[in-house]
Amino acid sequence: MCKECYIDNSRITPLLNPVDCLSHHTQYICGTCGRCICIERDLRRGLQRWNFPFQSLEQAKLYLRTADVAMKKSCGIYEIKSSRGRISYKIFPGEEELQSYLKKNRNKICEAMSPVFSVKEYREYPFTQVRRLTHEEIERYMQEKNRQK
Ligand SMILES: [Zn+2]
Ligand SMILES: [Zn+2]
Repeated sequence: MCKECYIDNSRITPLLNPVDCLSHHTQYICGTCGRCICIERDLRRGLQRWNFPFQSLEQAKLYLRTADVAMKKSCGIYEIKSSRGRISYKIFPGEEELQSYLKKNRNKICEAMSPVFSVKEYREYPFTQVRRLTHEEIERYMQEKNRQK
């Protein structure tokens, strides 16, 4: 896997409406493999994609790097169960943030109370960029993305 962004498929993101996301949202551009990860903050609450729940561990992993970079530390992916037994995955900087989430969401539990995935050590890399892509870059990225499928 890419040592910087923790994923081996370097063009897998964005998953949904990729052209839209690449055109209108600020991206974390992995300096090692070139993968773009949406790091746009929503205007209302200042939240980024990694702040929201994911349907699978695999999806959460795709965004873990943006959480680590935003918090400047190694964050964890936690398995959350709803009172109806529905499983989702959520990234928290640490157990404290998990605890306060569970306090506010009484219908949710985390059985393990420890991450199902995190990287050992937070590191920064020299060629990382955080910015919007140019039209040419979007075109090239989409060609590479379609080729990789
Ligand atoms: Zn986006
Ligand atoms: Zn990478």
